[in-house]
Amino acid sequence: MTVTHEVFNQPAPLADVNLFETNRPLQAALAFNAPGLDTTALRELGALAGSAEYQTHARLANVFTPQLKTHSRVGQRIDQVEFHPSYHALMRAAVGAGLHGAAFAPEARATGHAHLRRAAGFMLFTELEPSILCPISMSYAVTPALQGNAAIYGDWAPQLTSRAYDPALKVWRDKPGATMGMGMTEKQGGSDVRANTTHAEPAGEDAWGRRFVVTGHKWFFSAPMCDAFLILAQTASGLSCLFLPRVLPDGSLNAIAIQRLKDKLGNKANASSEVEFLGASAWLVGEEGRGVPQILAMGTLTRLDCALGTSGLMRQALSIALNHTTQRKAFGKFLIDQPLMKNVLADLALESEAATALALRLARAFDRPDDAHEAVMARLLTPVAKFWICKRGSHFAQEAMECLGGNGYVEEGGEGIMARIYREMPLNSIWEGAGNIMALDLLRAIRKADAAAALAHELAPAKGMHPALDHLAARLPLRVEEMATEMEARRLAQDVALAVQAALLAQTAPAAVFHAFCDSRIGGHWGHSFGSLSAGTEVDAILARALPR
Ligand SMILES: Cc1cc2nc3c(=O)[nH]c(=O)nc-3n(C[C@H](O)[C@H](O)[C@H](O)COP(=O)(O)OP(=O)(O)OC[C@H]3O[C@@H](n4cnc5c(N)ncnc54)[C@H](O)[C@@H]3O)c2cc1C
Repeated sequence: MTVTHEVFNQPAPLADVNLFETNRPLQAALAFNAPGLDTTALRELGALAGSAEYQTHARLANVFTPQLKTHSRVGQRIDQVEFHPSYHALMRAAVGAGLHGAAFAPEARATGHAHLRRAAGFMLFTELEPSILCPISMSYAVTPALQGNAAIYGDWAPQLTSRAYDPALKVWRDKPGATMGMGMTEKQGGSDVRANTTHAEPAGEDAWGRRFVVTGHKWFFSAPMCDAFLILAQTASGLSCLFLPRVLPDGSLNAIAIQRLKDKLGNKANASSEVEFLGASAWLVGEEGRGVPQILAMGTLTRLDCALGTSGLMRQALSIALNHTTQRKAFGKFLIDQPLMKNVLADLALESEAATALALRLARAFDRPDDAHEAVMARLLTPVAKFWICKRGSHFAQEAMECLGGNGYVEEGGEGIMARIYREMPLNSIWEGAGNIMALDLLRAIRKADAAAALAHELAPAKGMHPALDHLAARLPLRVEEMATEMEARRLAQDVALAVQAALLAQTAPAAVFHAFCDSRIGGHWGHSFGSLSAGTEVDAILARALPR
């Protein structure tokens, strides 16, 4: 073959790296939230999630997307989704690592850090493949809501907490493990679920309590191969939360017709469907007519996962950008040694570390529901973290992609991981309550809890460490107390997020990171794009901490 040129100056991909051991901000956040935490399992997961072998599974699961089979060859309705074997390999790994309901197993709860440890694992796995984490997240989050029906929870808890993954469509009692999803959104409304038209008629009572027959649809119904779902439907008393298994206790298929799979921007490995309920059987969970607060017990934890997931994606995008710029030369220097590129990368590193700190601090709150301060922080910081971290995600991904130049924009059969991250990023901001809904939820949280005092308490450890933070922290509790209007809700959510992130960095990060974060995000020494940190910023120290090796 004629040789036209030598290929050089093309960086080697980031592979076979332990994602836990190389993530200093993650380790610092864990040490802060749970000093002395046993991280053995996280190290193991970090090795798996960073391995070339599992990166290949992630690529294949995204390239060979789920396929819907509505009917068998001979015309029977089967309503099944077929996945590539790599999807199942990823699911098996995530369940095996306990990222689904295992955090609710008695032995995990006894550690006192079940949610925090699982949160760190969820972040690490997101760096491998985020879309399969949709059913994993729902299977984690469902427990507090499902406990509203003790009989069903008693029957299903062993499968939901088990580390065995079984994708078969079988009656739950014959399976070693099970997954669950949720169905709220309908065509006419997702944020305003009060508009739901799906209705449920009473059909007697059995071992699982009050049974209903459900007729209607769901416009978004992700991971339809889950074993069961919590859904909302109108009953005589109003919107109610119902448990809807795919296979009924007698082994027959429930009357759930999968109409089609969504053709999505990203999140390709995950099947998101549209479904119709044709007189499907479902059982009441919680109080009839109180379905929204009941299912929101699930929504709270999936919102935590949105913040964790975006933090994981930020870390992954940053790591890929650092990996590239430490190997690629332009104008006689490695890109990372060019002053303006240093500014961009350091700015991204600040954002990534702040997201990690806030998301893990929030996760800690769920380990201590009996602590009054932690309970307020869980309520307050869930919408704040979901709003702010996820809102920053797309901007972050675009800038990280640009660090790779044209290569960042290329998919090449799924090998272009940066392109996959970019397509995934907007999703965590949209589902589980879009940005405005989160900001408005913060206003509701403020109304109900003693938020101003709790916030002041949370920010106190950073007092006197940076004038801009002191200025913001002094005014924030007052703004919270005086209650922002709806028009101001996003601004309030942003400022609470920045203040809490800064206070956390004061306690977990080197001074260079903390000061640069406060100077830029709070003190105003910053432009409207990444890469506009002021000239005196200690970018080398910030980058040394962020490097993924
Ligand atoms: C890939 C994917 C998978 C999904 N999977 C599921 C699933 O498994 N189960 C499920 O139930 N749902 C699922 N969803 C649906 C998702 O949760 C909804 O799309 C989301 O909650 C928004 O609802 P909507 O699409 O009806 O938009 P709308 O409710 O119409 O909202 C549109 C916009 O208006 C804003 N808005 C709404 N009300 C107000 C207000 N009062 N003030 C200011 N702004 C407002 C919102 O913030 C949003 O930006 C999925 C969505 C996607 C994209």
